Amino acid sequence: MKNFLLVCTQCEKAYPADQPIWRCTCGGLLDIDMETNFPIDKIQKRPPNLWRYREALPIDQPENIISFSEGFTPIIPVEFAGKMVGIKQDHLFQTGSYKDRGASVLISVAKELGIKHVVEDSSGNAGCAIAAYCARANISCDIYVPANTSPAKLAQITQYGANLHLIPGNREATAHAVLAAARTTYYASHSWNPFFFQGTKTFAYEIWEQSGFQAPQAIVIPAGNGTLVLGAWIGFNDLRKAGLISSIPRIFAVQAKNCAPLYAAHFQHVSEPSRINASPTLAEGIAIAEPIRGNQILAAVRRSNGTFVTVTEEEIQSSMTAMHHKGFYIEPTAAATIAAIPKLVQSIPEIDQWISVFTGHGLKSTEKIMAIQEHSS
Ligand SMILES: *Cc1c(COP(=O)(O)O)cnc(C)c1O
Ligand SMILES: [Zn+2]
Repeated sequence: MKNFLLVCTQCEKAYPADQPIWRCTCGGLLDIDMETNFPIDKIQKRPPNLWRYREALPIDQPENIISFSEGFTPIIPVEFAGKMVGIKQDHLFQTGSYKDRGASVLISVAKELGIKHVVEDSSGNAGCAIAAYCARANISCDIYVPANTSPAKLAQITQYGANLHLIPGNREATAHAVLAAARTTYYASHSWNPFFFQGTKTFAYEIWEQSGFQAPQAIVIPAGNGTLVLGAWIGFNDLRKAGLISSIPRIFAVQAKNCAPLYAAHFQHVSEPSRINASPTLAEGIAIAEPIRGNQILAAVRRSNGTFVTVTEEEIQSSMTAMHHKGFYIEPTAAATIAAIPKLVQSIPEIDQWISVFTGHGLKSTEKIMAIQEHSS
């Protein structure tokens, strides 16, 4: 087994790497404490996928790697309000969203631990990713989703062979339902399970390598459960600890105005997500009213010298349409992040190197996009 520990964020208890656990006996969230190495000469000779950083990933035996050769997505420059912003094309993964980063590493860990069955809950894309990687790993899975999730995502999860559970009510009702199942089964959660973030951290490694082994000045990324915010934070910190970059990019984290508990907490100067009355949003993938790792997300954004921004439903819709007109077919949740860019680049003109991301593919949200077309014609 690799030399790493699972460490409780509450009581600091440490567990060895071979324990099939997803939270501490005290109920606290676990983080991974691991040494990472970046042998650049070796990395550059490997195939262009996220496993090229294997010395920084928590897998011991290569045969346990569950992969579709995911990652190393292109960064394409796009102009916003007169500024060029590099957009990482993370809608181009096997299952159509960047969640494959987390799923590849998490399900590889499950394979290495000999786990045969997992449960997961999701507003759609994480469920698709876990289901696909379980299919490839020959692990059975039960996926819990809110009943109002996009039909395309439900079809996708079912086609991978997962058992789908439709839960009435909001996203929190689904999270509640899966916790009962997770008492007896390995919880492949993209918010609780720390190995998911060991996959999303490769977002930072790739940006660093693709930017000529440098960190950009700023990144604009979504914040729901924070899998990308915390992944980026972990990844850039690994690079800094290894002496490969001198500072972490400023993290600009985007929430939908209709569901913005972290934005509220940031400007109330508190360290836990605020209680909010959430309204529905087109950005279903970031409609998280009670993010489990909210305090970690707040700390990461603040320590990066970044901030939180919100976008309205009108801004999400017009940013989505603008991207589609340029040939980038992204889903509404992905457009929420992009909607924040024009104002940000204008309000902080001294930043020249901006990176953002297309998080999910438009083909996942055909019905929503058609409804928008009907409404605007
Ligand atoms: C999951 C997801 C997000 C946001 O990720 P969080 O981990 O909830 O912060 C953004 N866009 C898409 C398309 C997603 O699937
Ligand atoms: Zn604990």
